Amino acid sequence: MRTIIIGGVAAGMSAATRLRRLDEHRRISVYERGAHVSFANCGLPYHVGGVIPERSSLLLQTPESLASRFAIEVHVRHEVVAIDSSARTVTVRDLETGADRIEPYDDLVIASGATARPGASAPSIPTHTLRSVDDVDDILDVLADAGKEPRVVVVGAGFIGLEAVENLHARGARVTLVSRGRQVLSPLDPEMAAPVLALLRGAEIDVRLGVTIVGASPGLVHLSDGESVEAVLVVEASGVHPNAALAEAAGIRLGETGGIAVDSRHRTSAPRVWAVGDGVEKRDHVDGTPTLVTMAGLANRHGRAVADDIVGGEPHDAVPALGTAILGVFGTTVALVGWNERRLVAAGLPHRVIHTHPASHATYYPGADPMAIKLLVDPENDRILGAQIVGGAGVDKRIDIIAVAMAAGLTATALSQLELAYAPQYGSAKDPVNMLGYVAENLAGGITRTVQWHELASAVEDGALLIDVRTPAEYAAGAIPGSRNIPVDELRARHEELLDRPVIVHCQVGQRGHIAARLLTQLGHDARNLDGGYRTWAAGMAAA
Ligand code: FAD
Repeated sequence: MRTIIIGGVAAGMSAATRLRRLDEHRRISVYERGAHVSFANCGLPYHVGGVIPERSSLLLQTPESLASRFAIEVHVRHEVVAIDSSARTVTVRDLETGADRIEPYDDLVIASGATARPGASAPSIPTHTLRSVDDVDDILDVLADAGKEPRVVVVGAGFIGLEAVENLHARGARVTLVSRGRQVLSPLDPEMAAPVLALLRGAEIDVRLGVTIVGASPGLVHLSDGESVEAVLVVEASGVHPNAALAEAAGIRLGETGGIAVDSRHRTSAPRVWAVGDGVEKRDHVDGTPTLVTMAGLANRHGRAVADDIVGGEPHDAVPALGTAILGVFGTTVALVGWNERRLVAAGLPHRVIHTHPASHATYYPGADPMAIKLLVDPENDRILGAQIVGGAGVDKRIDIIAVAMAAGLTATALSQLELAYAPQYGSAKDPVNMLGYVAENLAGGITRTVQWHELASAVEDGALLIDVRTPAEYAAGAIPGSRNIPVDELRARHEELLDRPVIVHCQVGQRGHIAARLLTQLGHDARNLDGGYRTWAAGMAAA
């Protein structure tokens, strides 16, 4: 029996090594068109920045190590250029010699990943993607010849684009970030992305949003807004599309997203042909529709599962993809899971929004970091639809808890019941995740009613009074136009000053506002709390 695997990085190599652990007697051949297999794509930006100083650290395995430990035949610089699924053969091109040869298989795994979308058009300036070790070598070569503080343009403000920005900056480059989108990190909602933009600008990154590259002349990149910026290098990170052309040419069915269509066991429409990784369509956790999620965890997990299926082991049906992701940028952590509000609105799905601004651990213990959390909940059944978190320490564990809760089908209210580890240097007796559960429960039960930052102006226009319940000092330091300051501790005595009008209360982050709204409601007022308080409103207005 012979298994051929196309693509030798995350999904392909997980499939190959698991297959060997399950079947010592099978012949396993991996064809990889690049120069390296099993390299750490996720670490590439950090070698550019010098955080991972040794290039060799990126090379997790070599053809030699895979041959000696796993008896896997690895052919780098070999591209599979055709698949004949009736004859069960592939045509392999040796990229050094250009010679083609036909290789037979019993089982075939397509793990060909994704390719950078064509983007920047700056022919007179070196332009590289950041997807392979060769790309990193090329980028470092350009920088080595460029002198002090070279000017670099990064195209694309997604996860890889921002990792490129940070690491080029760390290398001493002066970076311009160009993005077609009107905000950085489009998977985030605007009020959650606004602090990231501020962070980039604070680090003196020249951020140009809503523009594209329209051309270049030596040393200059021309932008669609008519401006030009200096550059010795353009790093292209404006997104990827699935590598599915090879499968399509072989008559293998693609899905509506353009990824290779597979069933829950990653079997394609061709017999004995599996496909895994970034090139493959996944099923979305929230609505079950086909989706593309290009993350390493899924690629590794699905590659491993395919090996089990090939040997006829216990089938592992793929669980729907949550899209859990995390990014570190200039000391801030950005993490998300599931859908954002923009996508829910576009799909017409009902949703309830919760913003909180907790600390990473008990605030009486030194060193707590702030974070902003946004949770999206289905108001009909309390199901968690998504979350976004931006902050410092502790963001990673909270997003993972929410991801686990979503995968397990816990309701938002059930988050309040999770028994999480607590000592003051790690968390709070009411952990930020527990607090989300309490807020969700209050909203579901009608104990709290909230207004979102983008709904405030029209609510006030419709006659609501806006009462800022923070201290006079906080109010003086910055207030929402049209608001009146009645500190929460004076509200019980002064509530009769409020006219017979609906009231919207707000504080800094929403907590005192909740106390105020509860007080006023019980005293007979029609009171709502501004969700996430002044901080979320200010972030939203900065993004608007
Ligand atoms: P790949 O790892 O891309 O491997 C596919 C391989 O197939 C390629 O090497 C390609 O050369 C080869 N190939 C394609 N066609 C052929 C052919 N016809 N013949 C032979 N070989 C072929 N994900 C995370 O979860 N977290 C992160 O922090 C993260 N950071 C990233 C940072 C960078 C810079 C990049 C580029 C990606 C990052 N990712 C991250 C995404 C993650 O690396 C991918 O999701 C994962 O590698 C996908 O695995 P794959 O096997 O499907 O594709």
